[in-house]
Amino acid sequence: MREHRLTIPAPERWGEGLVAIQKGEELDLDVRLESVHEGILVSGDVETVFRGECGRCLREIDERVEVDFQELFEYPGGEAADFEVQDDHVDLENLVRDAIVLALPFQPVCQPDCPGLDPNTGERLAEGAGEAPAPIDPRWAALQELNDNQAP
Ligand SMILES: [Zn+2]
Repeated sequence: MREHRLTIPAPERWGEGLVAIQKGEELDLDVRLESVHEGILVSGDVETVFRGECGRCLREIDERVEVDFQELFEYPGGEAADFEVQDDHVDLENLVRDAIVLALPFQPVCQPDCPGLDPNTGERLAEGAGEAPAPIDPRWAALQELNDNQAP
């Protein structure tokens, strides 16, 4: 078994959503390579930073993300494998990219209770203002009117 610690820059932008790993971002990799009967078992974790914008208020965000991965790289000639050992090497790039991209939040927020933008003005709502009150459903509003009329 061999262990490697590597820091390599992301070769290109990874991710298509609001946040992504930017090209050149440092990837801190901790990789273990284990020789098994069918090939090489690769496991480890990667730590990096994703950047982009908050899905609610569009503020810029950057956040650390750490992802575990494990995959068997089969020797050539085995069952059709997703990953193969090639010339005694394993190509970690696709493995690491897939692991990270899957871990990126689909709807990233700058903070869990980000109040977002005011639906009317488009301005950022003050922090801690909470969610804007939901507009009353017109059907309920009609009931509300009845209520008001019947009030003594
Ligand atoms: Zn936000």
